[in-house]
Amino acid sequence: MSILRVTFLGTSAAQPTIHRNLSGIAVKADADLLLFDCGEGSQRQMIRYGTGFSVDAVFFTHFHADHYLGIIGFLRTLGMSGREHPLVLHGPAPAKRLLHQAVHLGVDALAFPVEIVELRDGDVVKRGSYQVRAVQVEHRVNALAYVLEEGARAGKFNVDRARALGVPSGPDFGRLQRGEAVVLPSGQTVKPEDVLGEPRSGRKLVVSGDTRPCAGLVEAAKGADVLIHEATFSDDEQARALETRHSTAREAGRVAREAQAQRLILTHLSTRHDTDPSRLLQQAKEEFQGAVEVAHDGLTFEIPLRE
Ligand SMILES: [Zn+2]
Ligand SMILES: [Zn+2]
Repeated sequence: MSILRVTFLGTSAAQPTIHRNLSGIAVKADADLLLFDCGEGSQRQMIRYGTGFSVDAVFFTHFHADHYLGIIGFLRTLGMSGREHPLVLHGPAPAKRLLHQAVHLGVDALAFPVEIVELRDGDVVKRGSYQVRAVQVEHRVNALAYVLEEGARAGKFNVDRARALGVPSGPDFGRLQRGEAVVLPSGQTVKPEDVLGEPRSGRKLVVSGDTRPCAGLVEAAKGADVLIHEATFSDDEQARALETRHSTAREAGRVAREAQAQRLILTHLSTRHDTDPSRLLQQAKEEFQGAVEVAHDGLTFEIPLRE
């Protein structure tokens, strides 16, 4: 996988505001376009932020209305645009029942196939050069976080070493990089491990969905390049966080610290922090020394390959 690009479609909890739409994250992973949640209005945000509509798979974290009602209109738009390519919808139970309703709402049948796959803790969806793993989290309803992980890639090609071994530049370099041995005119065989460094680990992107801080997620997010964690509330709303099974920004910061994530992005803000999320940022920073930011709608970034 080369491209791993994240675009926030919506960053508000529970209800949309002028500045923030409901939850939705578009992820370009190689040739795939994925959605993590699809709150109402997500399709308009996709137009606004230029993600395109050719979504291959959707991963719902849970079925509170603010995380999935957007799929109804989006499916209709895809139907009208002549889509034939299948779409896979994933989510925790009762995904089958709720998404079946969403897919079949309305009088027109969809002209393209939609598959609904219910996931549980530990389930892995393999897609090309990467996989998406479901992790049980702790919310008021059955809820999952998702961990997108790519496989390790070959180590760095050592040109000097290859030349020293007598490998001519050109196609043989490519063969070695792809993991194939080459036989030199002298009859000597050069193996990939002779000229490649240690394999480089793949990237890891974690999306928490709605949750209390949770040990299973800390474990799953170990060493993540990017942890996207909900931060609905600030310290003075701790009681609300407990009651509604959400996290404060400080708790999100702790999760990032314990997971030793590289970068933490806070999202799913309650309306109180809509225009001024500085308190959330500050409280998360007090717990986590790595890079922290508060997402805004349209925030887009690429996760670079690990060296
Ligand atoms: Zn929510
Ligand atoms: Zn929720």
